[in-house]
Amino acid sequence: MSTQVKIAIVGGGTAGSTIALYLSELGLDVTLFEQASSLVNGPPFCHLHAGGNLYREISDAQCVTLLKESIDLLRFYPFAVDYRPTVIAVPKNDKGKPGDLCQRLSTLQKEYATLIQEDPANKVLGESSDYYKTYSYEAIKALQKQPNITNPTTLDEWMIPVAKNLDLNKVQFPLVMVQEYGLNLFRLGAGVTLALKSLPKCQLLLDTKVTHITADESKSGWYIAYENNKQQEQQHFDFLINAAGFRTGLVDDMLAFERERLVEFKAAYVSKWEENTQVWPEIVFYGERGTPQGMAQFTPYPGGYFQLHGMTKEITLFDNGLVRSTQNSAQPKLDRAFLKRIEQKWEFSEVDARTQAAIEHIAQYIPSFKSAKVASKPLFGAQQIPGDDATLRAANVSFVNQRYARCEIVKVSSVLSMSDAITKQLIMLGYLNPLAYQIRPLKHLQELDEQAIKIEAKKLSLEREYPLDIADRIVPCLGCKTTL
Ligand SMILES: Cc1cc2nc3c(=O)[nH]c(=O)nc-3n(C[C@H](O)[C@H](O)[C@H](O)COP(=O)(O)OP(=O)(O)OC[C@H]3O[C@@H](n4cnc5c(N)ncnc54)[C@H](O)[C@@H]3O)c2cc1C
Repeated sequence: MSTQVKIAIVGGGTAGSTIALYLSELGLDVTLFEQASSLVNGPPFCHLHAGGNLYREISDAQCVTLLKESIDLLRFYPFAVDYRPTVIAVPKNDKGKPGDLCQRLSTLQKEYATLIQEDPANKVLGESSDYYKTYSYEAIKALQKQPNITNPTTLDEWMIPVAKNLDLNKVQFPLVMVQEYGLNLFRLGAGVTLALKSLPKCQLLLDTKVTHITADESKSGWYIAYENNKQQEQQHFDFLINAAGFRTGLVDDMLAFERERLVEFKAAYVSKWEENTQVWPEIVFYGERGTPQGMAQFTPYPGGYFQLHGMTKEITLFDNGLVRSTQNSAQPKLDRAFLKRIEQKWEFSEVDARTQAAIEHIAQYIPSFKSAKVASKPLFGAQQIPGDDATLRAANVSFVNQRYARCEIVKVSSVLSMSDAITKQLIMLGYLNPLAYQIRPLKHLQELDEQAIKIEAKKLSLEREYPLDIADRIVPCLGCKTTL
């Protein structure tokens, strides 16, 4: 590795923080610019798409990519994962049939078995034979007679609360349970913050906005101007990584680089269900996006909190929420009303109306959930999708020239494919040893203490005005280091 080379990363979301961690672990001199006061502060995430089964519209090839990337991510960031499965239900009024999923699930199961054969350490989603299980009406009726389980471990035990509370007249059979887990944004933010602070090769500049970038005279590097505490500064770098999330186009525009992309504003809602005493899996009710029956997603946290998505215009989606870049600008322009929500506050009346709509959307299928209440402001943000296909879910990075990488992840699990592509480019430039390709530099992550992550995650949720419990998870961490 070259000790002379300086790498600049604009944006400390999941993409920018991961590549900062990755490259500074490999010994490169990295500066991470983040305009906010903490890392991983952009659009939310709650689901590890280990097979892409939430998206029936995407290709099997994308699903296999998401499976492989999720296994990789789970091995890299085990502390951020909530090890509980997901149930997929097809409502009776939906045009699809549960059987439509079976072919894909069987392909994914075989892929998972092959990955375990290649490397036994890939067995992070349980046995491949348990990757998914289908439940007939009769099997669900039988589970209704079982007692509630406080620490579920088998798929059947996880299914008990679903069997007892779901309106069985509203869904088709079989139901499917699949090993797609939860992903906690506060814990991921906490872990990368602690690791980056302990890495001497990483200069972490929070509250620092990059305002201007120009190519240097020899076209072999970049001058980056930035503002911190109203002070303007400038530094020279050899390689630029644009990880500015939905603002990636603003950095492209600074350099007059063209790019076609989409940006979409979406929100998920935080509810509290006081009456609930059971430990739930996540549940996804399929539905046609943008219609009143759009997909409903019910994501459990400790303390009776549930995060809710509903792919309708009254819940997660918004009129004019999806925008495109133009010939004059690589940055799709969101309406001011969305930027106001991102940069300032939501109106209380809107939080209330949309969270209530989300609760009712879920209560169609779980009637007892009707008593849930609004718990906090939503989890929300804008995400970018490279190109012009709004259904694209597996994407990672593009290069404009040899010294400029644009991170363009759509799902969090793509950050390691993104890191591999950037590493390859740095090897090609002679900045890294070829042996660095696809190694997973874990030293500082493995040294993290579970208790320290827990405290930092709760601090982040408190600062951002969310309930402390949603910085936690239902199932204790597998493979986390606990010294206390
Ligand atoms: C409602 C919703 C639900 C989602 N659920 C999931 C899910 O369950 N699972 C999943 O995998 N994905 C999910 N996603 C997608 C996921 O949130 C994004 O893919 C991911 O967060 C993008 O990370 P990023 O690092 O690319 O961007 P961001 O997190 O947006 O990070 C970009 C960072 O750059 C900083 N920045 C921008 N410009 C500058 C500048 N000029 N100077 C300094 N800093 C700058 C910003 O402040 C920001 O912190 C969801 C998205 C939404 C909207």
